[in-house]
Amino acid sequence: MSQHRILSGRVVIATHNAGKLVEMRELLAPFGVEAVSAGELGLPEPDETGTMFSENAAIKANAAAQASGLPAFADDSGLCVNALDGAPGLFSARWAGESKDFGGAMARVAAEIEKRGDTTRRAHFVSALVIAWPDGHTETFEGRVFGQIVPPRGAKGFGYDPMFLPDGHDRTFGEISSEEKHGVDWQTGDALSHRARAFVLLAQACLRRPA
Ligand code: IMP
Repeated sequence: MSQHRILSGRVVIATHNAGKLVEMRELLAPFGVEAVSAGELGLPEPDETGTMFSENAAIKANAAAQASGLPAFADDSGLCVNALDGAPGLFSARWAGESKDFGGAMARVAAEIEKRGDTTRRAHFVSALVIAWPDGHTETFEGRVFGQIVPPRGAKGFGYDPMFLPDGHDRTFGEISSEEKHGVDWQTGDALSHRARAFVLLAQACLRRPA
């Protein structure tokens, strides 16, 4: 049986993405850790040179842990569309360009699916979460949520949320609150979003609720 390390005290959330930061803070809130963001500490954003979500999450978490001397928590995530051989995938943020134009990125996804004549519109989100400690220890967890690409609906959430309809639901991630998007049931360990599914595994292994 593997030994997990318990996270406590102060932790850096190694992201400069405002949408992810909100979700990661919400998920960490019940566990009595004090979360500071990489932005608040003025930490630089490392280049994401990995070829897997978990590699990029480890690059971000390790860079923040080394720079801050604190444990750091990072997410690398993306939208993978079946008809596009998994694109935009690792390049999900880059499809929105420097100006972070997700309206444009969603239009491109829809146009590429159309071009390939795909009617299934199957896709999934992936989230790899890594906690890195300054001594180099890391813990890695991954979550996925499967669903369909639909014309964008709703102004909640961030990134590609408005065009993702999770299986078994009738509202897109853009139409539901972040709490509904997490969909966490701590009794059963069920969750809805890719990030929340990875987070439940992380919490079961590495977090404890304050007494
Ligand atoms: P990165 O992990 O910083 O490379 O960025 C991941 C990108 O994937 C984000 O900028 C979003 O475009 C997209 N993405 C990841 N998770 C979500 C999500 O929960 N909703 C919508 N878009 C997401």
